[in-house]
Amino acid sequence: MKLLSTNGFIIYAKKMNEADLLLSYITEDYGKITCFANNARKSKKRFLGKLEPAMLTNIKFYEKPGMTLDILYEVDMIEDYKNLRKDIDIYLFLTKLIELSRILCQERDNNKNIFYLIRDVFKSLDGLETVSAGRPPVSINTVLLKYEIYFISNLLKFTGIFPNFSNCVGCSEKNLQNRFDFSLKKGGVICKSCAEDKYNEFKYAGINKLPVNFINLSNLMVESDLSIISKLIVKEEMLAECSIFLRDFLSFHTGKRLKSFEGI
Ligand SMILES: [Zn+2]
Repeated sequence: MKLLSTNGFIIYAKKMNEADLLLSYITEDYGKITCFANNARKSKKRFLGKLEPAMLTNIKFYEKPGMTLDILYEVDMIEDYKNLRKDIDIYLFLTKLIELSRILCQERDNNKNIFYLIRDVFKSLDGLETVSAGRPPVSINTVLLKYEIYFISNLLKFTGIFPNFSNCVGCSEKNLQNRFDFSLKKGGVICKSCAEDKYNEFKYAGINKLPVNFINLSNLMVESDLSIISKLIVKEEMLAECSIFLRDFLSFHTGKRLKSFEGI
């Protein structure tokens, strides 16, 4: 057995029996890993207080050849983004980020960008101030919606499922004015004539209207860093429509109900 070490964020935890835990992490060097933490709930020195969401920890784990589960050996705290667990709105938002990371990331598919995306968003949210001198206060909901669209757009890019918004999925016509509708089934935009062609399979594939400016917004999010969130001024209703579209796209694409999007 090899002892490996990396940094990671917990994205899933399940009690296995009295004291053991099954844990999934998004790590910096090994992508998503799932490990068994023997006696985790009793072993204070190795694990206590270091298995919460929104904590950046260094983990040491044994990799057994031929086994899908690794064995967690020890956890050390690097940075605790504890403000994410203090505010109920931010905490609920955190559960969305975690659920999406768990569903969209594959085991051992190492993509450092996903780890850095999670770390940067956590860090930024941890230091979030919605009231700044000389400017009107911004509702927390508006701010979180911008983070959500930023996070999801970038996660889609890094997992290779960012939708094709630039050309019709049927005939490749360019979506010059961003006027095309969207085919959930094909994961891309579709021109009017393909959508209306009754001999075309697309007629029967659920076609959604894209929210106004959605393409521009999500392209901007994947081309910018997190500072775009405080610079961008967009109405909350518009952000909410984009969030609903992304939820529908993700549900369709993954074939899963997204529980964290259903509210309390
Ligand atoms: Zn077309």
